[in-house]
Amino acid sequence: MKIEKKLKIIKSQLPESVVLVAVSKTKPIELILEAYKSGHRVFGENKIQEMVMKWELLPKDIEWHMIGSVQRNKVKYMAPFVSLIHGVDSLKLLIEINKQAKKNNRIINCLLQVHIAKEDTKQGFNLSELDLIFEKLNSFENILVKGLMGMATFTSNALLIDSEFKLLKSKFDLYKSNKKEFDILSMGMSGDFKNAIVNGSTMIRIGSKIFGERN
Ligand SMILES: *Cc1c(COP(=O)(O)O)cnc(C)c1O
Repeated sequence: MKIEKKLKIIKSQLPESVVLVAVSKTKPIELILEAYKSGHRVFGENKIQEMVMKWELLPKDIEWHMIGSVQRNKVKYMAPFVSLIHGVDSLKLLIEINKQAKKNNRIINCLLQVHIAKEDTKQGFNLSELDLIFEKLNSFENILVKGLMGMATFTSNALLIDSEFKLLKSKFDLYKSNKKEFDILSMGMSGDFKNAIVNGSTMIRIGSKIFGERN
């Protein structure tokens, strides 16, 4: 099936308020262009160097989202153009993003990644750290924290995924009531996006369902 068709099918299943990030990591320029030509503009990558290379080669009206874990020493490469960083998971990283945003005379939009899954390998703040970080957000002049991001456990247990999404959504609502810029809840991937939407996701990150399986 063509990429255009797959995008259409996924979009037909989304409420209008939910943003679709097409996760193009590891996929070639040609496939991204195919999605672009069908009208899609929001793409997600998980490696900074790969995203920079693609940004250089592709049309400049693409919105690039960094969805992976971020190495601090590479923030400078994406600071001129990145439109949303989903995987912010430390105070040190916030400090570096703020510094590079300032150098580029920009405000960079970020999401705080929250550890909701059972696996230890998934990144993110735990819930108690999150409260401490939230207190400090106003001190970063060149960062706008727009919301939260989370990944559910990789499991066939739909009830577990459901409870993790509900937990993230409840945190999101709590913060949102104190911070009006909070309007993005990034949760849901190819395997669990329907569940995520039921639980209040406003942004889903879909890779394999659009571009095919990765090696
Ligand atoms: C790869 C990736 C996705 C997309 O995964 P699919 O299962 O291919 O849809 C979403 N979010 C993050 C953080 C990823 O690294």
